[in-house]
Amino acid sequence: SKEDVQAFLKKNAFVLFTVGAVIVGVILGFALRPYKMSYREVKYFSFPGELLMRMLQMLVLPLLVSSLVTGMAALDSKASGKMGMRAVIYYMTTTFIAVFIGILIVLIIHPGKGSKDEFGKQQKIEQVSPADAFLDLIRNMFPPNLVQACTQQFKTKYGKRVVQVTVTINDSIFNSTNGTQEVMEITREEVIPVPGQVNGVNALGLVVFSMCFGLIIGNMKEQGQLLRDFFDSLNEAIMRLVAIIMWYAPIGILFLIAGKIVEMDDLTQMGGQLGMYTITVIIGLLIHGVLILPTLYFVITRQNPFIFIAGLLQALVTALGTSSSSATLPVTFKCLEENNRIDKRITRFVLPVGATINMDGTALYEALAAIFIAQVNNVEMNFGQIITISITATAASIGAAGIPQAGLVTMVIVLTSVGLPTDDITLIIAVDWFLDRLRTTTNVLGDSIGAGIVEFLSRHELRSKDVEMGNSVLEE
Ligand code: ASP
Repeated sequence: SKEDVQAFLKKNAFVLFTVGAVIVGVILGFALRPYKMSYREVKYFSFPGELLMRMLQMLVLPLLVSSLVTGMAALDSKASGKMGMRAVIYYMTTTFIAVFIGILIVLIIHPGKGSKDEFGKQQKIEQVSPADAFLDLIRNMFPPNLVQACTQQFKTKYGKRVVQVTVTINDSIFNSTNGTQEVMEITREEVIPVPGQVNGVNALGLVVFSMCFGLIIGNMKEQGQLLRDFFDSLNEAIMRLVAIIMWYAPIGILFLIAGKIVEMDDLTQMGGQLGMYTITVIIGLLIHGVLILPTLYFVITRQNPFIFIAGLLQALVTALGTSSSSATLPVTFKCLEENNRIDKRITRFVLPVGATINMDGTALYEALAAIFIAQVNNVEMNFGQIITISITATAASIGAAGIPQAGLVTMVIVLTSVGLPTDDITLIIAVDWFLDRLRTTTNVLGDSIGAGIVEFLSRHELRSKDVEMGNSVLEE
């Protein structure tokens, strides 16, 4: 009936808008491609998308801190220790499975053929030693200055950790007066920050601090009440801001996607090895995201994983649009808490940590890409080297910040560990913007399913805590 349709539309308005935005964005992007916009015009065109990115990023810092502090404060140390263990076991297991799939699939499909000529020109990438990168990761867990950790990138002892990737965009401008074609070159510099950092925010350091802080004020009895109330209410206020921004999200996503399609390289260039490589990555991510994670969810919770994933649709689409799992974090919160009814004590605790360190898609990608680069160089990886790649790919995914193309930077660690040329990262730069979106979506999916699984496994602790606090316990 008419009321049913209306009710359905109202309930699913967000999802419909968001999915519609992707479709319209893709169509609009391809429709505008023939006009060959200049770099500046593309920037103007995708401005509404840029705004969405900025709004979401604006919320990451207060959301991360307030949710972790309240999340930890709501649990006693025994319960949070148990949940933390479950989360860590889930992160490690799924990341290793992802790496395994990445390696398996690239060995089977074998997209690289030992010739580099068909790729464009190469650029220099700085070397990073795995030991230094690893120490940096630990170092970043303990920011010496909290205010600085919130505002700016900090250099570490081992010098520059800022890798500059220069992307050259050729803008052809047809000069009508004399009928000749002029090619103008604009160089855009993209500075990708150090491992563990998000837009100049040292996320890892803030995660560690907020968790300890929350745990402590949770144990402080009356004396901690003021702080608990403060962070609780801060968290609530931020979530209300998120709710407002979510109305704008479809517009932003539309322009982010359309703008990217307008400016991407010609698809015909993607033939040969790079095309095969792209397909291999897509297959790997699909196996992990559509097969492995849902199966794991089903085996543990005995519930339909695809209903769970349907509730996440908006977060997944936001990940696709922004290629940043931290920018997506606010939306992931909303989806899990409102659509999937995951307990806030779980989401507040599991999601910020997951978005910072648990990146299945990135791990799969890094292992796969490293072996692809070996194949292109005609280097056969032995068993020991493959083990090394799986370990460093895991570390690199933990170290990668949840920002666009961070995984490309931490790839340096993986390549260096097995003696592959780091400059070869530039071979795959052309398709990275696209693959980045897909691996980010996989990352967000992994974090969310993790929240579902940890909640299920922790149901007894949550229930007994409810009883203890005198909360109304929902019957299953
Ligand atoms: N963009 C990814 C993310 O935000 C990280 C990566 O580059 O792999 O999750």
